[in-house]
Amino acid sequence: MRIGFIGLGNMGGPMAANLVKAGHHITAFDMMKGAIEKAAAQGAHAAATATDAARDAEVVITMLPAGVHVRQVYLGDGGLLRAAKPGTLLIDSSTIDVATARDVQTAAKSAHLDFLDAPVSGGVGGASAGTLTFMVGGEDAAFARAKPILEKMGKNIFHAGGAGNGQAAKICNNMLLAISMIGTCEAFVLAEKLGLDHQTLFNISSTASGQCWSLTTYCPVPGPVPASPANRNYQAGFTASMMLKDLKLAQGAAHAVGAATPLGAEAAALYSLLESSGAGGRDFSAIIQMLRGKLGD
Ligand code: NAD
Repeated sequence: MRIGFIGLGNMGGPMAANLVKAGHHITAFDMMKGAIEKAAAQGAHAAATATDAARDAEVVITMLPAGVHVRQVYLGDGGLLRAAKPGTLLIDSSTIDVATARDVQTAAKSAHLDFLDAPVSGGVGGASAGTLTFMVGGEDAAFARAKPILEKMGKNIFHAGGAGNGQAAKICNNMLLAISMIGTCEAFVLAEKLGLDHQTLFNISSTASGQCWSLTTYCPVPGPVPASPANRNYQAGFTASMMLKDLKLAQGAAHAVGAATPLGAEAAALYSLLESSGAGGRDFSAIIQMLRGKLGD
């Protein structure tokens, strides 16, 4: 299949490489020349502009930093919606605000194009290994077309409903994750002060009602879960800055629809403080160090 791929950064680069490996004809574009050269070395065809990447494609995938870049690339005179042939399937895998995803889908529909929002989780490791989770919003027929392509880049492909619902699923999940991580960290910090050791709290809570993914898979103290970032001085993983980005998107969406998310707001405030303390590049579980008042350790 002829696929245009735009945005070849930490995530898009390895995703495009997996599509090449699967035998697809990839025409790749990024604003950074170096990223295009790297994709070309991995078997993609270099495009001079985003519209060149889209012109002859049956499918176009974008993996861009934020909503503002997605609007820039899709909408307007030089945008993809003008360049793509009618019937082209457009898939945006960037993590962006729900409103932008829905606006672009509406504009795509009036241009006789299919558009899906398909953000991912799984990080750079998942992008390289082809094991990402895709959360997809859009029409059933478009999802059916996209699924075999997404399966070349991911392991779990979920259809979350209509336009924007992929982004909705991503920000709801990550808001829940941030809150559960902060709660897990607070429990360990309190246990330390009360003289209860980490392993004992882990053994009890991992089989009791406090059980959650932040505890059992991504434990924020070293020891109980050897693979968690706490065991390598909170080297990311999933950075605190990326978590903050998703929490801000969740807060923006909550304000837009009038949803009460007081713990989500508090989580955003705490991760903002962590980032402004200079720890944005550390794993998001490093928030335990801030709660201990020992960020520098
Ligand atoms: P990145 O900054 O490494 O890559 C983005 C790429 O887009 C860059 O190469 C940049 O040059 C390119 N770009 C920006 N504007 C462009 C334009 N107008 N035209 C063409 N190219 C343009 O970011 P990333 O880590 O690859 O993340 C991409 C998206 O995936 C983000 O929305 C991020 O939130 C999301 N995400 C990232 C991770 C992760 O672990 N890195 C995990 C899940 C989701």
